[in-house]
Formats: sequence, structure tokens, C-alpha cells
Amino acid sequence: MTGKAGDVIVVGGGIIGLASAWRLSLAGARVTLFDPAPGSGATRAAAGMLAPVTEAHYGEEELLRLNLESMAAWPAFASELEQQSGLEVGYDRSGTLAVGYDPSDKAALDELWRFQQKLGLESSPLSASACRSLEPALSPSIRGGLDVPTDHQVDPRQVGAALLEACQRARVSIRHERVESLLVERARVTGLRTGEAREERAPTVVLAAGWRSGEIAGIPPGLRPPVRPVKGQVIRLRLDERLPRPARTIRALVRGSFVYLVPRRGGELVCGATSEEMGADSRVTAGAVYQLLRDAQSVYPSILEAELAEAITGFRPGSPDNAPLVGPGGMAGLVIATGHFRHGILLAPVTARIVAELVSSGLGEGWERRPAIDPRRFSRRAGR
Ligand SMILES: Cc1cc2nc3c(=O)[nH]c(=O)nc-3n(C[C@H](O)[C@H](O)[C@H](O)COP(=O)(O)OP(=O)(O)OC[C@H]3O[C@@H](n4cnc5c(N)ncnc54)[C@H](O)[C@@H]3O)c2cc1C
Repeated sequence: MTGKAGDVIVVGGGIIGLASAWRLSLAGARVTLFDPAPGSGATRAAAGMLAPVTEAHYGEEELLRLNLESMAAWPAFASELEQQSGLEVGYDRSGTLAVGYDPSDKAALDELWRFQQKLGLESSPLSASACRSLEPALSPSIRGGLDVPTDHQVDPRQVGAALLEACQRARVSIRHERVESLLVERARVTGLRTGEAREERAPTVVLAAGWRSGEIAGIPPGLRPPVRPVKGQVIRLRLDERLPRPARTIRALVRGSFVYLVPRRGGELVCGATSEEMGADSRVTAGAVYQLLRDAQSVYPSILEAELAEAITGFRPGSPDNAPLVGPGGMAGLVIATGHFRHGILLAPVTARIVAELVSSGLGEGWERRPAIDPRRFSRRAGR
């Protein structure tokens, strides 16, 4: 890092804002982070799967490269974070098993496997009985699956708590205040105004407020990040010692719907998630809980004996092309880091690195340009 980081304000203390603030501080910046409730956004709802291989999609090969880059950075990021915070982050290398419930679900997994092979990703097809040897409590109805040993998981709530602690130890100043608007003077972002009308100034502002990043006033409408809330309802089950517990993450395709079961140390099982274009509707619906339990018990019947410990909603920051917006914000002094959609936990290490490099370069040369995630790709498309 060069020494040009200076004073930086970070707006938003989800995993992206906290990780960026931590890395910026380690790079020598004096960082102030604003968030009325750090860690309370999508980061709190997320399952924490680090799953570039099982989430590989046609047409998203560029995003896959970024996902794999961040996946490769996770082990060192996790151990450095644990060391610097003194807190665990729940990094779990036990891998992922994807299973198909009926013949067409199995055919879809076979198709995914062919795509993974074409991309050189590590994944092996398994018969139904091989799946059940790995996970004996799986339903006898499943038709087969894929063993994906390199897709791991962390506990995002633990990561959030560790990042907050690491930030504080690295002298990041945390302000529990909502940001109302950015201050713009002569086409340059110079600071912000809080909900209590207090002003704070810094030469660089990093906008990392998740799906609300586009709502913050001050930025000209054409440069506001085009992010939207994509509703995800997710439940947490508690397994007592009498109940079987998956040894790894299980992702299932059940009559065409996706459901996952992510086991945590201590007996918690995260079961998710819906993906709904409902705006910022935070209700947990009976229908969503029913659908998650119905699909999950089709592949792992004993979960119906578990305690229902929590049902919550989170909002993924969706972007128009599903790729994040990380880079210069199209105005002097502005850096954007949002739009991570389904992959914000996975992409935290690479995002924080890019933000720290960009700010340390004085928002000039000396950092690697990445057109696929450049926030300005949307304003350019609109001819601005
Ligand atoms: C159900 C569900 C499951 C998921 N599972 C996974 C998964 O398994 N793996 C994965 O990689 N990703 C997963 N995701 C996606 C991931 O959670 C998000 O991509 C990620 O949390 C985005 O992080 P963020 O910091 O940008 O936003 P958030 O975590 O939403 O944080 C934004 C922060 O900004 C703050 N804020 C908002 N407005 C203001 C303001 N005006 N002033 C100050 N602060 C403000 C909020 O309080 C919040 O703390 C999941 C998401 C959901 C909803």
C-alpha cells in the first residue's frame, strides 16, 4: 500500500463496510464508520456459504472468477481476523453436498456438473447411496448428487462481531448514526450529513450501505448505485443431541426449488432461503416458512423434530447484472462498494482489498481496474 489513504469515511457497517474499514485502517487510513446498527443488515440474515462452485451460473463466468479469487483469500482473511480480533468466525472446511430430489432435479444437477467440468471446477457426481453414506439422515427418496469439497462456510454473525472488534482495535472510529446525505461541493464528495444534521468531512467517502446505498441523498441521480432489495426469508433450527446433524452444508434442488441446510457448531441449522422481488417488505410469511420446511424435510426428514429458533428476513443488495459495484463512484472523493447480491459474505475479502488499494492509490493509478464490477458501467450504459 502507498501512504495516500488519509482520512476516510465509510457509510455502512455490514460485512462489506466493516471489512473495508478494517483493511483501510491497516493500510494507514484514519477511518470513521457510520452505521446506526452495525451488522444488522443482510449480513445478519446470511447463511455464510462460500460457494463459488455450487453457485456457478451460465453467463456469470466473470463473476465466478471474482468469487473464486475471494474464496482463495478467505482462509488467510479468516485467520488474520481471528488473530486480530481474538474472536472466532466459524470457518468450516467440511464442504458441500448438492442433492437432487426427483429425476428432473437430478438432471439439473447433472447439467450443473457438466458446466462445472467445462470450467475446471472441483465437483464429483455421486449416486443416491453414496450421498447417503456421506449423510445417513438424508431421505431415501433423493436421486443423487454432487460432492463439492471446496465450497466452505463461515458464520456471518461471528464474522460481523469479529470485524467490529478488529476495527475498534485498529482504531476505526464507529459512529452509531444514520447517514442522511453526502456533501457534494464543486462535483466532489467532501463528507456527509447525519440524520441529526451533524456534518463530518473527509476527502474520501466509501459508500457501503447495502441495498440502501442508492437512497442516500446528495449524489446526482445518474450516479447513484442502482441497487434494490431482494428479499430473503430464512429460518434457524436448533437440533438437540438426539437428532442427526449434517456433517457438511447440504444444498438441495426439490421439485425445481432450491433449499439449503447449513450446520453450525453448537447445533444450529440454517435453512434458507426465499428470493423475492417484494421491495423492502420485512414480514416473515407463513407461506415462506412452510415452503422452506416442506422442501428441507423432503431431503432431510428429521428436521421436523427440531426447535424453530428464529425466522427472519434480510435484503440482498441486488444489482442489474447480479455483479457487485466496487470502485470509483464517478465523482471525485467517492468510492462505491455495494450490490453484492447473493455473494456478499463470499466477496468480502476481495472487496475490502480492492477498496483499500483504490483509496491508498489516491483514487488514481496504482490499483487494478476491473471493468466487470466498475460502478460506472451503469452510468456509461445510460450514456452519462
Ligand atoms: C437470506 C440471505 C442469505 C444469504 N446467504 C448468503 C451466503 O450464504 N453467502 C453469501 O456470500 N452471501 C449471502 N447473502 C448475501 C449477503 O448477506 C449480502 O450480499 C451481504 O450481507 C451484503 O453486505 P453489505 O455490507 O453490502 O450489506 P448489509 O449487510 O445489508 O449491511 C448494510 C449496512 O448499512 C447500514 N446502513 C444502511 N443505510 C444506512 C445509512 N443511511 N447510514 C448508515 N448506515 C446505513 C445498515 O444498518 C447495515 O448495517 C445472503 C443474504 C440473505 C438475505
